[in-house]
Amino acid sequence: MSSILIFCKSCGKQISSSEAREQLCLDCRVRSSVADLRDEHARLWRKRERYRSAQANVEQIGRQIARVEDRMGARIKEMVPNERQAVDLLRRELEAARGQTYTIKGV
Ligand SMILES: [Zn+2]
Repeated sequence: MSSILIFCKSCGKQISSSEAREQLCLDCRVRSSVADLRDEHARLWRKRERYRSAQANVEQIGRQIARVEDRMGARIKEMVPNERQAVDLLRRELEAARGQTYTIKGV
């Protein structure tokens, strides 16, 4: 059980080598693992705003957004065994994606 302190090569945070992978802290690993889904989420979100302002039906886009969020959650849970931490990280990623505060239902 020997671990040394290193700096995350992405955000510079000090972390123990035992929790680092490829010199990245967990936060940064999560962020990069869901980056593509977050882009997809942002794209759908903007699309929904456009549709809504055009008085169009946004129900289907809402379902697509929910699916992307589910996939983000599943990916984060794969990386983060601690459930509470996984929920926190998912919430943070969703907030970043939406640019606003968001409460996860059913957790
Ligand atoms: Zn980091």
